Formats: sequence, C-alpha cells, structure tokens
Amino acid sequence: MTDDRAALMEQVREELDNLTESPLYAFRKENDYFVVVGQGSLDANIMIIGEAPGATEAKRGIPFCGQSGRVLDELLASINLDRETVYITNIVKDRPPDNRNPHKKEIRLYGPFLDRQIDIIQPQVIVTLGSFAMKFILEKFDSDQQTGKISALHGQRIPVGASYGQVDVVALYHPAVSLYNPGQRDTLFEDFKVLEPFVGE
Ligand code: URA
Repeated sequence: MTDDRAALMEQVREELDNLTESPLYAFRKENDYFVVVGQGSLDANIMIIGEAPGATEAKRGIPFCGQSGRVLDELLASINLDRETVYITNIVKDRPPDNRNPHKKEIRLYGPFLDRQIDIIQPQVIVTLGSFAMKFILEKFDSDQQTGKISALHGQRIPVGASYGQVDVVALYHPAVSLYNPGQRDTLFEDFKVLEPFVGE
C-alpha cells in the first residue's frame, strides 16, 4: 500500500468523522454510533459499494458486518475472494434512522467522499449492491446505461471510463433482498460469478 493512499484515506475519514453539517450527524452522536468509512485493501482491484450502514454497522464502524454482511461473506467465499483483498464501503456513511432509504440530499453530501475513495483506490471493478449504488455510479461515469433498471442490468459487466482508465461496473441486487426472497438469492450467487476472472489479479 502506498503511504499516499493511506494518508488520503485518513483525510477522508477525518472529514467524515467531523461532518457536523450532515443531517445524520446528530443521530450518530445520540446513539453512540460510528461513521462507517469503509474497510479493506487500499490496493484493491475490486471495490464493493452498498447503500448506507445499518444499526450493526454503525455500532461497530464496519460496513456489511450484520445480516446483509453475512450474505456478502457467503458470496465472497463462493468465488474464493478474500474480504481483506477488496474494499467495501457505502454511498452514505452514516446510518439513516429506521433503515429508511437514503435521501437525495444525503447522497449529494456523502457522494463526493465516495468519489474521492474511488480516486484513491482506483479499482478495476466497481460492484454496486442495490439500485441506489448502481444509479450513483452509472450517473457518475455518465454511462449509456444510466437510465437502465437493475432488473435489466444485474450481473453484467458495464464498461465505463474513469479518470485513471477503464473500469467495469457490475450491478448486483442488494444482499438484503435475498434474506426474504430465495429466488433473488440464487440470482445473486449466479451474478457474483462474473467477478471470478478478477480473483487473485
Ligand atoms: N446495507 C448496506 O447497504 N450497507 C451496509 O454496510 C450494511 C447493510
């Protein structure tokens, strides 16, 4: 890992930690929650992006460490991908109350931090979990597919141009969906195989 990457990510962490202008900051403090910046390798070639932390994640400051995280761990194991070799984060870095969907203004506020994390890590593949992350990423890169629905785009490799080179975006259903829909669980495991060529790269 380059020192530069670690220093730049530390700067992102500090700014997020002190993001008093966030509408979710007071809720974080009232509940003794942590901001959830991200976890994993700063040299990852695969970056996985979810929506926002849930209660378990906010209590620990770690992304995808609750119920959805267990599904993500199973998905990673299904293609022998080590969690430590990828970088996992969310668009919104604080827990929204009642696990509601993130508001547009929250995505606008936290989005630039995710942009910086992508520029620091420069992944070859960006995996989006759920439609919020898919939309954010496809719009960010001005993809031809940005108006597409997740039901049509899931499991495909969508090439986009990043400032540092070509990136494949892989849009997947959110693991939380598979908790109450076994059909979607099968689809998620089938779709995850599209990442196999990148394992160990
Ligand atoms: N759901 C998400 O989108 N992100 C997490 O970190 C946990 C659950």
